[in-house]
Amino acid sequence: MATYKQPCFNCGEFIERDSRFCPTCGSTTPFGAHCPDCGKPIKRDQLCCSACGRTLHTACPVCGERVFVGAEKCSACGAPLFIQCTNKRCGEKQFFENTKCTACGKPLNKASDKKKKRGEK
Ligand SMILES: [Zn+2]
Ligand SMILES: [Zn+2]
Ligand SMILES: [Zn+2]
Ligand SMILES: [Zn+2]
Repeated sequence: MATYKQPCFNCGEFIERDSRFCPTCGSTTPFGAHCPDCGKPIKRDQLCCSACGRTLHTACPVCGERVFVGAEKCSACGAPLFIQCTNKRCGEKQFFENTKCTACGKPLNKASDKKKKRGEK
């Protein structure tokens, strides 16, 4: 029986369509990027997510370069853009800007996050 294969978004290797990661390059998003908020597939040239309206480009937390939210790392400095959910039973990768885990709902406390000033709206 033929299995459908699709090229990995990162390395171009053809892999099973239901793969959760690419066995060749280890990418966890082998079939392209997904919106970090709603999980809808997104493309690099989109300005915002067609489902939830999230902006798909943001500033790298380390170097400030414009990065695509579906990228795993900043293309300029290599800083990872995903953090792991601190809920040990969940452990899903979450985009660094997310305030809570999209899988389990646990608030994500970011190590580098300074305490937010009060009174801001
Ligand atoms: Zn790959
Ligand atoms: Zn979305
Ligand atoms: Zn960077
Ligand atoms: Zn979680």
